Amino acid sequence: MSFPYEAPVSQSLFDRASAVTPGGVNSPVRAFRAVGGTPRFMVSGAGPYLTDADGREYVDLVCSWGPMILGHSHPEVIAAVQEAVARGTSFGTPGAGEVELAEEIVARIEPVEQVRLVSSGTEATMSAIRLARGFTGRPKVIKFAGCYHGHVDALLAAAGSGVATLGLPDTPGVTGAQAGDTIVLPYNDLEAVRAAFAAHPGEIACVITEASPGNMGVVPPLPGFNQGLKDLCSADGALFVSDEVMTGFRVSKAGWYGIDGVRPDLMTFGKVMGGGFPAAAFGGRADVMAHLAPAGPVYQAGTLSGNPIATAAGVAQLRLLDDAAYEKVDAVSAEVRGLVTAALAKEGVAHRVQAAGNMFTVFFTDAEVTDYEGAKAQEAFRFTAFFHSMLAQGVYLPPSAFESWFVSTAHDTAAVERIAAALPAAARAAAAATA
Ligand code: PLP
Repeated sequence: MSFPYEAPVSQSLFDRASAVTPGGVNSPVRAFRAVGGTPRFMVSGAGPYLTDADGREYVDLVCSWGPMILGHSHPEVIAAVQEAVARGTSFGTPGAGEVELAEEIVARIEPVEQVRLVSSGTEATMSAIRLARGFTGRPKVIKFAGCYHGHVDALLAAAGSGVATLGLPDTPGVTGAQAGDTIVLPYNDLEAVRAAFAAHPGEIACVITEASPGNMGVVPPLPGFNQGLKDLCSADGALFVSDEVMTGFRVSKAGWYGIDGVRPDLMTFGKVMGGGFPAAAFGGRADVMAHLAPAGPVYQAGTLSGNPIATAAGVAQLRLLDDAAYEKVDAVSAEVRGLVTAALAKEGVAHRVQAAGNMFTVFFTDAEVTDYEGAKAQEAFRFTAFFHSMLAQGVYLPPSAFESWFVSTAHDTAAVERIAAALPAAARAAAAATA
């Protein structure tokens, strides 16, 4: 397709980046491979807006893939960071900020009795899996097709996010030994999980699931699915690991746990808890966490874990996230969803807006999407046309039909009006698109 406008400075940065970095990006989801065109290189963010290297401003509906729930450059988060950075950037010793962030997490999420801080969601899920295996003495892990848990070798099979966006099967570089103990099942299919437990009695260390998946687009668990997973795990002596890297502190004060109340044995967090910095965590039952070094034998470590700047940003952001903040984000999300649906319906475009709290995806299909196969069955070519029309009109969407859209407390009336103004032309572009 042709792209409605050029971005010469981004293009020249992308050319330079492509010479020194594979694909020109440091994380595949940032590339425009699925939609075509030049990725926009952003130079600043303020509230609901991003500004690119060509000086164009966009309403941001990506929010750094979730973390920027207060919008960009929130003054109180920036002040906390400035104060922390003035005291030094890394000590390699314990620090008060780590305690404060851990206490914030434990206070909000009741099943988390103890927590270990790490630097990325990938590290959190990788460590949680190792701990589950170390605790149970069992090898196998159940995961679901379309769920993404970071680029952990054992968890990349049938992963969502960039793996789904780029249509990759599974990745080279993961050996049979690394993936051989991973059982991949269709999402929302409890019978398949029951059958896997029956086929591998006493061998399954844990079931890991996104608490409410956002990485194949937003596909919430069907009623009873998470509880069913928990019950099957408990009956077999396996651990139920809920990955809340995306939903944690985003969809409610206590993440998806705050919505469905199903009690995991272990949980993983990232994104919002770092306030835009690399901070993540895993935690849960104290008797399980007690197996972690130095308290126990399961090794896990990190030079920059609990970094003082990241913890300062995370604590500042979490403390600002009171009930009123979530009400605001939920309300903006509902408003944008309503506007998108109205615009697409007016043009007769088959679509379905699926939400999990304030996270949402516009699927270009009229069937309910309950698993990865359903997500892949959408008319993604319509999203491509929709995306480029929105981009040309100054609205930055995730460059993939298989991702969640994110809003923030900073998305005010002016930002929503800009989205509303862009939607009719984007809906017409989606209607006119051909495969
Ligand atoms: N788990 C989930 C549910 C995620 O959405 C992500 C990232 O998008 C990860 C884990 C990996 O986190 P990170 O990118 O910080 O390694």
